[in-house]
Amino acid sequence: MEKKEALYEGKAKIMYATDNPDQLLVYYKDDATAGNGAKKGTIVDKGIMNNKITMFFFDLLAKEGIEHHVISMPSDREMIVKKLDIIPLEVIIRNVAAGSLAKRLGLEEGTPMSMPIIELCYKNDDLGDPMINNYHVLACKLATKEELAQIEAMSLKINDILVKYLKTKNIDLIDFKLEFGRDKDGKVILADELSPDNCRFWDTETHEKLDKDRFRRDLGNVEDAYKEILRRLTGEVR
Ligand code: ADP
Ligand code: UDP
Repeated sequence: MEKKEALYEGKAKIMYATDNPDQLLVYYKDDATAGNGAKKGTIVDKGIMNNKITMFFFDLLAKEGIEHHVISMPSDREMIVKKLDIIPLEVIIRNVAAGSLAKRLGLEEGTPMSMPIIELCYKNDDLGDPMINNYHVLACKLATKEELAQIEAMSLKINDILVKYLKTKNIDLIDFKLEFGRDKDGKVILADELSPDNCRFWDTETHEKLDKDRFRRDLGNVEDAYKEILRRLTGEVR
């Protein structure tokens, strides 16, 4: 697989073309941002850890019948993926109130929700990823009714699989963000990544935060949190 020109450099990853027009090479960077790029920094070896953590979760999900974009992991920082037409939605699934939900509804962080909540944001950095609902999605033709139903069903199934699995590792899945895209046959599949960058993981016993909130909120031991998640999932000690 030949790595060709960079097609897009995002906040956390670079997407390269390859010699196969249907595949991209994803390079995971150590750059960290918060507040839509307002705060910038580096988390040492984050790219390596997020690549491996994403691979682990996507393998786990595939075994449970969730189709995703990853084809292979040619190096510690790189992934070969199916090139998708990304649906411009950030799909947020929440089990416990935290972050912007806690603020918006005046809930104490850590308040369990009686059922999972799905929120949709329009993926647009210039607008600050505004929250929208199903009506906006349909009216603006971001996705069809059928695609929305698939996204909702897949998101809830992914949540069930991850919550159950993470419980066995003493981790509570507080909330997380998913992205979906259409493959060349128009089928909706899971894209992007699943890592401490886009999930909130709390230790079940101590409620210690093991995710990017350590960077966002200047809590210290940022690298250690990523290392701990990698260790609990894969056994790898860094
Ligand atoms: P951002 O764009 O938010 O700064 P990243 O740095 O993670 O985020 O960049 C990765 C970009 O690649 C995102 O815009 C994401 O939607 C997109 N992407 C993820 N998976 C695929 C895929 N399989 N095909 C095409 N684009 C993808
Ligand atoms: N999230 C993300 N990208 C975003 C916004 C949110 O990955 O652009 C994830 C975030 O890591 C968390 C969940 O979505 O797991 C909910 O985030 P929230 O809206 O509380 O965001 P905050 O403003 O607190 O980062």
